[in-house]
Amino acid sequence: MFAKLLIANRGEIACRIMRTARRLGIPTVAVYSDADRDALHVDMADEAVRIGPAAASQSYLDIAKIVAAAKETGADAIHPGYGFLSENAAFARALAKAGIVFVGPNVKAIEAMGDKIESKKLAAKAKVSTVPGHLGVIKDAKEAAKIADEIGYPVMIKASAGGGGKGMRIAYSRKEVEEGFNSSKSEAKSSFGDDRVFVEKYIEEPRHIEIQVLGDKHGNVIHLGERECSIQRRNQKVVEEAPSPFIDDKTRAAMGAEAVSLAKAVGYDTAGTVEFIVDKNRNFYFLEMNTRLQVEHPVTELVTGLDLVEAMLRVAAGEKLKLKQKDVKLEGSAIEARIYAEDPVRNFMPSTGRLIRYKPPREGTTVDGITTRLDSGVVEGGEISVYYDPMIAKLVTHAPTRLQAIEHMGEALDAFAIDGFRHNIPFLSVLMRNNRWREGRLCTKFIAEEFPGGFKPPLPTGDERDAIVAIAATIDHMSNQRRRAITQQMHGEPVQFAEVRIIEIADAAERVTVAGDVEGPFTVIFEGGGKTINLASNWWFGDPVWKGTIDGKPAFVQIRPILNGYDIIYEGVEVPVRVLTEREAELAALMLVKEKADTSKFLLCPMPGTVVSLAVDVGQDVRAGDTLCVVEAMKMENVLKAERDGKVSKVLAKPGDSLNVDAVILEFA
Ligand code: ADP
Repeated sequence: MFAKLLIANRGEIACRIMRTARRLGIPTVAVYSDADRDALHVDMADEAVRIGPAAASQSYLDIAKIVAAAKETGADAIHPGYGFLSENAAFARALAKAGIVFVGPNVKAIEAMGDKIESKKLAAKAKVSTVPGHLGVIKDAKEAAKIADEIGYPVMIKASAGGGGKGMRIAYSRKEVEEGFNSSKSEAKSSFGDDRVFVEKYIEEPRHIEIQVLGDKHGNVIHLGERECSIQRRNQKVVEEAPSPFIDDKTRAAMGAEAVSLAKAVGYDTAGTVEFIVDKNRNFYFLEMNTRLQVEHPVTELVTGLDLVEAMLRVAAGEKLKLKQKDVKLEGSAIEARIYAEDPVRNFMPSTGRLIRYKPPREGTTVDGITTRLDSGVVEGGEISVYYDPMIAKLVTHAPTRLQAIEHMGEALDAFAIDGFRHNIPFLSVLMRNNRWREGRLCTKFIAEEFPGGFKPPLPTGDERDAIVAIAATIDHMSNQRRRAITQQMHGEPVQFAEVRIIEIADAAERVTVAGDVEGPFTVIFEGGGKTINLASNWWFGDPVWKGTIDGKPAFVQIRPILNGYDIIYEGVEVPVRVLTEREAELAALMLVKEKADTSKFLLCPMPGTVVSLAVDVGQDVRAGDTLCVVEAMKMENVLKAERDGKVSKVLAKPGDSLNVDAVILEFA
């Protein structure tokens, strides 16, 4: 085994790799940029080397600096994680030259699969089914339109060097091809320094299903079943699972055999992923091969019981795969939810800020065989910056059945407290309760179809609303009692159990009384109708998560104090709740309410980013749908379009400006 392992990455994946290295007794070296000085992966490693400023191009992507860090610390192997240099052939070559083992595939495999056009040609040769399309570089928008006409609409325009959904456009018409071609080309150029673009048929209602393969340096390749990754937004995965609810044994065996045959064709010798899209008739087509450890690898680990990082280290050290295909057993069902710093309400735009609170759910396995795993790369107090991927952590659950894994994921999400910026936990929590998701009727447009017009935070209704009212009432009751009882001091007036509280929630109010001692259990009695709710919990002041039972049903509810009440988050419903006495309610009704500022006359920057171009000028009339401005954030070009007709009265930003979220770009008359 290796004497020392350097991890050329950051965040959750660097931490995850270190955990396995530690278990195997291999000392670890972290590398970090100035932005990551206090990061968790630096803390976890046995040694850490600073490799440069925040910008990835000058740190995590700088091959010379990483090689120097390995030499300096005596690391004889480097695991690249995913992203950054993980699929960079020049990096693998530089390591070979320096006598350092690259914990990844051979250079030839990286090169063959690194290019979407070339890998498709190779796949076709290895008798792997590919998406119908044009396997060549396209010169200009005219040629693209001609090819698209031949393939038939809709088509997908893709960057050959693409990854992470960048440089990809769907086009339903000739006009959209011409538009999409140029933006795809420029996005490809700015993201990958390579502007080759091609066109293929867009498969409708597709599911994204991929096969995990594992090879060694002795010519053995096996597959570890599939992962379904159809829950995507902006063509990027957010929730993944294994096994796929759509794949039967026969299809799994056929996909697995094609994946293994492709891997063998390039002498594949580590963990890798062959991605397919699958149509509604279970026809599958090769998309691309990722020659690295994949973000969503934990779901495969949980259903196979294997540690893929360990397997990668062992085969990199020259060991033979011990496992045979027939020994691979898939057990139970695993779900992964990616926790992102992004605003689900604003089309999942990345968000930045400081993690002022970070309290994840508890990890481990219960007696019923339900596992919670958290792969996280952050600590409370850390910063989510614009420099890197906004993924904070991955929450993974495993259970005997898919529904149990989903149920448990819902609870774990509700128990996950993160404050300091917008994140997607409320969205994920609502998703876990979505019937179509629970039934496994998926396709890559699932989010777009189930949340038309974007994700709108659900309003409190029915039993959930009453539960929220009851919790607010009991917490207020507890705090009233506590305020009057200080140890070793004379007590004030005891709380009147029958005192009415007015609970204001979402423009309505409920009159309730609470019965119970300071530590519960409590009964909340609703006036009129006489409904009662019983609550039991060990919750105590300061805890952001209320864990207990509501009428006997286990629940996790988030509590944040606000003026005269609490912000309560339950099953993705987030609502401010005010708790008032009758007299307070009478007076509160007389208070003026601060009106929200009218921002409809402005085009605001939806995320922190850089202005790439402005499409309009002062005095110009615009129609709804017209392009106004292009803003780049985290290497994605976001086209901002007019929401309604109007006339531009002021232009307040220019190309190259770096803007904060909500900065005014344009003003309309
Ligand atoms: P990237 O490497 O940028 O992630 P992929 O080629 O893996 O790009 O595609 C990402 C996602 O885009 C897929 O999961 C799928 O949802 C969608 N997609 C890609 N190609 C097609 C296609 N031809 N038809 C339909 N959907 C596609």
